[in-house]
Amino acid sequence: MTQAKMPSMKRNLKPIHFDPDLRSMTALENAMHQFDDAAQVLNLTPNQVALVKKPRRVVQVKIPVRMDDGSIEVFDGYRVQHNTARGPAKGGVRFHPMVDLDEMQALAFWMTVKSAVVNIPMGGAKGGVVCDPGKLSYGELERLSRRYILEMIDVFGPDRDIPAPDVGTNAQVMTWFMDTYSLYKGDYLPAMVTGKPIDIGGSHGRVEATAKGMLFCLRETAKVLEFELAGAKVAIQGFGNAGSNAARLLHEEGCKVVAIADVNGTYYNEKGLDIPHILEYVKVNRSLRDIETKIECERQDDPKEILYLPVDILIPAALEGQIRHRNADRIQAKVIAECANGPTSYRANKILDQNGVFIIPDILCNAGGVTVSYFEWVQNRLGYYWTDTRIQKELHRYMVDAFHTCFQTAQKYNVPMRTAAYVAAIDKVVVANEMRGL
Ligand code: NAD
Repeated sequence: MTQAKMPSMKRNLKPIHFDPDLRSMTALENAMHQFDDAAQVLNLTPNQVALVKKPRRVVQVKIPVRMDDGSIEVFDGYRVQHNTARGPAKGGVRFHPMVDLDEMQALAFWMTVKSAVVNIPMGGAKGGVVCDPGKLSYGELERLSRRYILEMIDVFGPDRDIPAPDVGTNAQVMTWFMDTYSLYKGDYLPAMVTGKPIDIGGSHGRVEATAKGMLFCLRETAKVLEFELAGAKVAIQGFGNAGSNAARLLHEEGCKVVAIADVNGTYYNEKGLDIPHILEYVKVNRSLRDIETKIECERQDDPKEILYLPVDILIPAALEGQIRHRNADRIQAKVIAECANGPTSYRANKILDQNGVFIIPDILCNAGGVTVSYFEWVQNRLGYYWTDTRIQKELHRYMVDAFHTCFQTAQKYNVPMRTAAYVAAIDKVVVANEMRGL
């Protein structure tokens, strides 16, 4: 295959030898190592490190829900507010069987950093409920969503902590959050949550915001690395909100999307996949299962196989921890645009840096989502709603500014983009913390 021409980003780094039996780090351990790299560049004092590293508030609740059969099930719910020095806490709520406090703390920390990377006046938070939403009836899901907010009624608030959708939650769940909170407080309070449907105070552009932000970052990457985005071969792991919108936008951009994957497997066509046809298929069938019977492609059972294909750009848009030190050497892409949160482990990142891969880190690459969430909050508070054109223009400005801040920081300190993004962001959080005092 012919890969797009891109200059090598190889640096003069010491060779890395990892013990192949090394235990995989947790999401939180990875996040803390990433922070430590930036703290070293910034020469932070132990006091400054202590102020930023630990979450400000960790809330854990039991959520009793009456199930359809009359029984009562008690679910575990969490909310972690990591930092509120720059503004109210902001972050999604995840409904998933694997939710745990370690993961919540890592994701809350990443939200603090992400808000600071794109320079929106907000802090970071994350919440979740240990459940399998696919196994709950509509009524059970509604009761669980409403009870989660009620149990946390003093935790959330438009000036305190603003939730949003994440894995396993959607605009309907956000509507139940908003309705329950508003009923309890006796006011109409749409600004307590973002990711709502447009009819009740949602924003234009929210659905594709994450993928749009990624596209804006990729365009700037193509400029600074001097390659053509049109014609570049792309592989996308995950075909949900982030992945499917990324496929559509990159197809429209003239890229050749040669591979996609979801939980059902990897689908590959060296000549490029028929993305419009696939999007129509997924609209009806809700996943990529059996798509190989409808379009020309090869299928492999393992959704991880997509990571190792000969492409120019790899877009992880599924889960955390996909690229680890055990498989990082197999990646052939020259650019990785991280739509997912935490897809690359700390050790894997070192190997990829060594191999000259240019990574647009999650805290920058997928920050379009939180940026448009911020626009939604602003509109709710103003009671004045923007056009889609204005949203796109503002999102473009925020993302391009953030990209170049990170890129210039990377050049200034001769560090990879992830460390640069942390440096630029942590600096802002530390300044805000110190100005406010203890
Ligand atoms: P989603 O639930 O809509 O889609 C997830 C996709 O990943 C599905 O296609 C699913 O089949 C696939 N998947 C699940 N397990 C997989 C596996 N083992 N291998 C390959 N594919 C697998 O979720 P989403 O909203 O698109 O989010 C995806 C990622 O992007 C998450 O890490 C999320 O935190 C991150 N993210 C999303 C947004 C957003 O606005 N949607 C914003 C920021 C970050």
